[in-house]
Amino acid sequence: MGIKPGLAVIIVGDDPASQVYVRNKERACEECGIYSEKYALDASTTQEELLSLIEELNNKKSISGILVQLPVPDHIDEEKIIEAINPRKDVDAFHPINVGKIMTGNYDFVPCTPAGVMELIKESGIDVCGKECVVVGRSNIVGKPQAMLLLHNNGTVTICHSKTKDLKEKTKKADILVAAVGIPNFITGDMIKEGAVVIDVGINRLENKKLCGDVEFESAEKVAGAITPVPGGVGPMTVAMLMKNTVRAAVINKSK
Ligand code: NAD
Repeated sequence: MGIKPGLAVIIVGDDPASQVYVRNKERACEECGIYSEKYALDASTTQEELLSLIEELNNKKSISGILVQLPVPDHIDEEKIIEAINPRKDVDAFHPINVGKIMTGNYDFVPCTPAGVMELIKESGIDVCGKECVVVGRSNIVGKPQAMLLLHNNGTVTICHSKTKDLKEKTKKADILVAAVGIPNFITGDMIKEGAVVIDVGINRLENKKLCGDVEFESAEKVAGAITPVPGGVGPMTVAMLMKNTVRAAVINKSK
């Protein structure tokens, strides 16, 4: 069909975690044979300069997907940046149009991390239909879209957050538990139902520089029926789903 996917990744500033994420994305493009362009901008880049780069990429034929690595520096309005990306090139699926489509279930793109979680569940032969699903975390990037995807798969979904009372009582009921909190080892084995599927989205760097998830793996694995590790697990799936969204974007942009 002559479709050539191309991904533009923009990073502003020198946040070390963001640098690692962007490097992983570039590497994945190389491995998949997807053309990519990286724009590493100085932390002092103005909002106008960033918006004008996005506009240029919106119109660039060789680019089917645009990703701005978040967070951006404080002087840049994140919402304005997300809204400037052509929704058909919005491979992170953060644009309000794509967020709305996720609500209706009629979507082109799904945010990469929740999409990766769903793929892990599917590939492991786990049927979500009718299951008690508990998502801990309600961010726009992970928790909320994750809950919608589980709902679209006919799960009975509870969203927990920082103001939830009796969290353990909720997590204990979960057949499928997704942790996206950002607190190291927050979910412990005693909060998990015997045999539950436990998916750990968290990526937390400890003082000793080691990475750990939101789930205390040692105690959780004794109770869980299936559990994802950190590192590994959801992280690589996120990058894989970005590649999928980039290919999808190329198809969508070709046909419109
Ligand atoms: P966030 O900080 O935006 O959201 C955290 C959520 O946790 C909030 O909704 C908050 O209500 C909830 N929370 C905080 N304290 C709580 C408590 N005591 N009890 C219950 N809920 C509580 O974070 P995020 O962007 O959603 O990311 C969550 C984690 O996932 C982080 O560790 C992040 O690094 C990681 N992450 C991983 C990937 C990946 O590719 N694996 C992608 C995105 C984020």
